[in-house]
Amino acid sequence: MPPSVKRTLPLLIVLGLAALAIWMRPKPVVPPPAPAPPVSPALSVLGEIPDWSKLEAFQETITRSDFERLLTTVFVTGGAWRNFIEIDDHEARIRGSGEDIFHLRFAPPGLTKPTPRHWKTTADLPPAPEGKPLDNLHIAIDPGHIGGEWAKIEERWLLVGDGPPVREGDMTLQVANLLKPRLEALGARVSLVRAKPEPVTPLRPDSLLTLAADSADPPDSPAALRKLAERLFYRTAEIRARAKFVNDSLKPDLVLCLHFNADPWGDPANPTLVERSHLHLLLNGAYTDEEVALADQRYALLDKLLRRTHEEEALVGATVADVFAEKSGLPPFIYPVDSPNARPVNGHPYLWARNLLANRLYDCPVIFMEPYVMNSTIDLPRLQAGDYDGLREINGAPRPSIFREYADALTEGLARHHTALRPPPAGLYEALPPP
Ligand SMILES: [Zn+2]
Repeated sequence: MPPSVKRTLPLLIVLGLAALAIWMRPKPVVPPPAPAPPVSPALSVLGEIPDWSKLEAFQETITRSDFERLLTTVFVTGGAWRNFIEIDDHEARIRGSGEDIFHLRFAPPGLTKPTPRHWKTTADLPPAPEGKPLDNLHIAIDPGHIGGEWAKIEERWLLVGDGPPVREGDMTLQVANLLKPRLEALGARVSLVRAKPEPVTPLRPDSLLTLAADSADPPDSPAALRKLAERLFYRTAEIRARAKFVNDSLKPDLVLCLHFNADPWGDPANPTLVERSHLHLLLNGAYTDEEVALADQRYALLDKLLRRTHEEEALVGATVADVFAEKSGLPPFIYPVDSPNARPVNGHPYLWARNLLANRLYDCPVIFMEPYVMNSTIDLPRLQAGDYDGLREINGAPRPSIFREYADALTEGLARHHTALRPPPAGLYEALPPP
């Protein structure tokens, strides 16, 4: 071994051992790549990811032509649905909450399977005994808004002159309490969705402050944040709680949502008054392009369409609207022709389709009443007069209590619809002597 190599040998051995030690050192554990977060579907506020498999129950319950007609003439106002629903002769391919596609098979013409549902249409009801045209019908009355101490927060409160404050939530409850015994007298079973001027939801604005702060476009001032939390409380959480109660516990055949309409009034303590009054009834439909793009609303649209609530709503609504207009003398409220969120129903002047949280989430037919105008010089004196017997001179004419007019018109509308469409009990005519 040459002396130079002999000199450097220990160094080479040390270097070799060091290299070996580095090579053999415990390898750092490389974490596996984190799984990509699931693509969260676009949902409404407090909306839940829908279970699309529930639509399996509606396979072959509708023909292509009925599906297309209902979708394009009632349920949407724009063309964005084409990004989510493809239709051919055999099926509709519906985009679910992510990339999943739900296949809805159409019924071959003439071979439509029955629509599964827990509520009864007018046609499903057995013959009604004499004088009880609403026999066997379960009606839920939903007095709109909350009223009481919540009326100001929910912006359904106004004060004019020395009169008592007008609180929509209290007035709808007043109508509900007049309506219930009237419908029961005609044979209906009646439930109230709310019987007190208190919320149905256990949530309160305070408990929704975090949700408000986490919203896509959080307000920048504490006052605006508070306002948003309040809106989430009375407009969203409250209606969702009522829908849960209606769908899971009450399971009625029909829901009547009671409201009083209003024109924009500005300052509630010094509201703008208008000199007109009007009436319209809202049925579920007219989803905007933005709403169709939200997974929970797209699901609700299809669920509503497939349950065939629209046909029943339009049938009941037409007679109720006719009778209400006749009794109250109210002219129709007309939406602008190109309204992105409303469309007329069957050319009926008082019937409009709109997608509201209540008429979307309640899974049976819903008639959403919007009569009178709270800040109108025509209706305000009647609202401030409260409930009374008989007639009183108001605005120079004898008028019944506006609350009784409301309850009576609605009762008579439902009675007329059922009397016209339900057959009398078997045996009634057989008992009569032959002509
Ligand atoms: Zn209202």
